Amino acid sequence: MLDCGVESEAGLASIRTGLATIGGNLTTLIGSHLHVDHVAAAGALIEETGARWVMHETTSDEIPRYNDWTLRATGLALAAGAHGAPTEFTEALLTDWERPPWYGIAVNPSDAVADDDRISLGGDRYLKVLYTPGHQINHICLVDSRTDLLFSGDHVLPRISPFVPYTGPESDHLGDYLASIDRIVRLETSRTHPAHGTEIERGSERAHQISLHHDRRLEDMIDHLTAGPDTAWHVMEKTFRPNLSFLQQRLAIQETLAHLEHLRRKGRLRLIGDPSNWQYERTGR
Ligand SMILES: [Zn+2]
Repeated sequence: MLDCGVESEAGLASIRTGLATIGGNLTTLIGSHLHVDHVAAAGALIEETGARWVMHETTSDEIPRYNDWTLRATGLALAAGAHGAPTEFTEALLTDWERPPWYGIAVNPSDAVADDDRISLGGDRYLKVLYTPGHQINHICLVDSRTDLLFSGDHVLPRISPFVPYTGPESDHLGDYLASIDRIVRLETSRTHPAHGTEIERGSERAHQISLHHDRRLEDMIDHLTAGPDTAWHVMEKTFRPNLSFLQQRLAIQETLAHLEHLRRKGRLRLIGDPSNWQYERTGR
């Protein structure tokens, strides 16, 4: 089984019904990445079935941030505040985060896998692991050795561009994401099963579209800084539509910072100011 959804009685009940319908036992549970809508029920399912639990080897590093929301909330509040977010936003981040019960408790994988590993499905059939960081540092895609089907998780989605996070200036998640997307483009694959939405007929072409979307967005952000240096928060307001909800702002400021930090690493922007009040400035390159 690949990804198992949130931890809820209804969700677990439907998984049990599904397993009974196909007359199978759950022996292998694979998580594409450590997001709530993919793996929250894993702990409960493993306990119930004894299945092996397969995720990328970097997953354990992310588990503390998954299980303790105050870690992420304070990190994002600090970063957003330093990049021009209003205090209502940062204060809401620190007070409005109630961890819902359907998040479950993330557990370490019993089988940690790396790029190019094979997850045996019995006989000579296996799933080949493609390490595709970006949407999350521990994201993997899988290729079925028998059918060449690509299971793309949240890395390639049919209707939206997957969210790219910001976790601090030491990481270039958009750079990672674009490199991982390029891998799917070069795979020249067709039938692709994403984690959300319906089958994608031409997976590599869809990956190429997403890559072009980010190229355009990067150039838009450079354009938004033509008049002079500005904060990431203002660039976000110019990039995304107005009246975003709190949740949307949370995603949009991270997505904006991921793009701006990528441009900084490319030498096209520099950070000016100080750690409590950063602005991005064009370098002219
Ligand atoms: Zn996700």
